[in-house]
Amino acid sequence: MIKLQQVNKWYGEHHVLKEVDLDVARGEVVVVCGPSGSGKSTLIRTINRLEPIGKGKILVDGEDVHAKGTNINRLRQKIGFVFQQFNLFPHMSVLDNVMYAPINILKQPRAEATELARSLLERVGLADKVKAFPGNLSGGQQQRVAIARALALKPPVMLFDEPTSALDPEMVGEVLQVMKSLARDGMTMVCVTHEMGFAREVCDRVIFMDGGVILESATPEEFFSAPKTPRAQRFLADVI
Ligand code: ADP
Ligand code: MG
Repeated sequence: MIKLQQVNKWYGEHHVLKEVDLDVARGEVVVVCGPSGSGKSTLIRTINRLEPIGKGKILVDGEDVHAKGTNINRLRQKIGFVFQQFNLFPHMSVLDNVMYAPINILKQPRAEATELARSLLERVGLADKVKAFPGNLSGGQQQRVAIARALALKPPVMLFDEPTSALDPEMVGEVLQVMKSLARDGMTMVCVTHEMGFAREVCDRVIFMDGGVILESATPEEFFSAPKTPRAQRFLADVI
């Protein structure tokens, strides 16, 4: 579903992704972890072309993400993206936030978009908040709206960049719960997160990055019981 081949990226002179290879199968859930500045955000942002790459190739569902001829809007319909800062439209109700893309991008009829948005909000446990505005919701609720909004285009792939890092601790669980249910339903997911409980319980594979390089790629069992590199051992000692 996702394939990165020898991906390299520079910010000016700064080489931030170095020969990154990654294959994510349909339905696979991959957790990306690693110290701050290791290139995790840059990596997942290249997958939906929020960041250009310098060298290499990225395929999503068979499409060459960074090729000149690629239709970026059609590509992004295939890839839901959830940010650390929820990025909801503050002047729109929760329901309108979720309906926005189906109506404006897919040109869905309003009634159909409403029905879909309601069912997605129910799915993330916010059926009673459809009329609320983002500013009146907790961080955990806003992030669940952001997930519903990303799901509204029915993407086969979902990317998460530290979706719980901006939340108060008591709200982390409700967001992880929604992510777990997506994983169980067979969504292909790449999640940058430091929630090692989520990684252990839910993911199929852990990627550990440091200095723009994938240092380890292992099952959670392997990674948590016997990380191969001293760098990953130190990282785990710090986060767990
Ligand atoms: P992570 O998400 O693992 O913390 P990032 O992908 O955000 O790491 O950053 C990787 C490296 O690239 C860091 O050294 C960071 O300072 C640098 N970097 C990130 N974004 C930019 C940018 N827009 N311009 C210049 N350097 C950047
Ligand atoms: Mg980051």
